[in-house]
Amino acid sequence: MIDAHIHLEQYENIESSIEKWKEAGIQKVVAVSNNLASSYKTLELKEKFSDFILAGVGFHPEKGLPKEADFQEWQRLVCQERDKIACIGEIGLPHYELEQLPTSLEQHIDFLKRCLHTAKDYMLPAALHAVHDKAEIVYQLLQQETPNLSAHFHWLKAQPEVVRQITASGYYISLTPEVCYRHRDQILASMIPNEQLLIETDGPWPFDGPFKEKQTTPLFLSNIVSFLAKEKNRNKHIIEKTIVHNTLQIYG
Ligand SMILES: [Zn+2]
Repeated sequence: MIDAHIHLEQYENIESSIEKWKEAGIQKVVAVSNNLASSYKTLELKEKFSDFILAGVGFHPEKGLPKEADFQEWQRLVCQERDKIACIGEIGLPHYELEQLPTSLEQHIDFLKRCLHTAKDYMLPAALHAVHDKAEIVYQLLQQETPNLSAHFHWLKAQPEVVRQITASGYYISLTPEVCYRHRDQILASMIPNEQLLIETDGPWPFDGPFKEKQTTPLFLSNIVSFLAKEKNRNKHIIEKTIVHNTLQIYG
């Protein structure tokens, strides 16, 4: 299995954890970054565990806009380390923190445009954080600014008509462990075409339901696959194979 979105650099004991995860059948993870320092850390991990990590570099939209100097340095980093980078992410628009941030939505839209153009310039896919009413704005931006860019809407929450637009345009969507216990995500699961479906943990983000008070790791992916197998009445191994294939299509 491949975890299509995890904040790996935020874990402790990464080396021993990766060993454990590999033994349990986790082949790779897409490790995204939150800012410049986090992008450096992710690329360091990529050097160390090159076969296991697909590295993403970016600026998490809920954490506020970076200083211009940081963005410039980040762009140089993307240029220098292009061969080690699998995607630009996590990027997108703030939703949960927008009211608390000192910046306006328009400023975030402008910044996202610059990130999308970096992705396009280096022919890298985008790992997107675009939820609720921001999903449609980001979808429109992709269409207008970088129409041929591959993109993945991670942990998507959006109106059915927006989900349909996203899938009709060939973008990927991932499900998190929430699908095992939350109706909203189960409806989303039924709307994602098999060939555009990814799964992720967004670890170390904590989950509820059967995952309550457990540390989030890629080992949760097998619960998602079991749930989907039951729900879609399909063989677990076929689902796994399809999802791995999809993940490598966009990030491999
Ligand atoms: Zn994330």
